Amino acid sequence: MTQSTSAETTKISTYLMLIVLMVIALSIVALILAVSTFAVNQTLATSLLIIGFIAMTIAAYTLFQSRKRAVSMKIVAPQVMTTIECRKCGFKSVREFQRGDFVFKDLEKCQKCDDKMMITAIYKEIKEKEKTYNV
Ligand SMILES: [Zn+2]
Repeated sequence: MTQSTSAETTKISTYLMLIVLMVIALSIVALILAVSTFAVNQTLATSLLIIGFIAMTIAAYTLFQSRKRAVSMKIVAPQVMTTIECRKCGFKSVREFQRGDFVFKDLEKCQKCDDKMMITAIYKEIKEKEKTYNV
């Protein structure tokens, strides 16, 4: 599941990169045209200059935003955890969520006593996110 989402984001970012490169190329063309038409038509040259700079700014902003989004997507990779508890001795263990897990589901026997263990909680791990924010 996590692999497919990361593949999707890379696909989107390469698509975005193509658009950004095209916008940059167009803005360079606009700037060249502005320089070459400056002697003939100053109004046209000025508007071309403005268009070129706006396009360049948009490209840079898009690039910055997409990079920021990619980073945040990497950070937010919630891991679902399952807490298993023994009703008799209180032995507690946490493991990754497995398909078919649900709260109050009876599981294998306890490691300490022979009583049955039960799922008491299913939650998303957010410690990873805090860790990366501190670094
Ligand atoms: Zn037990």
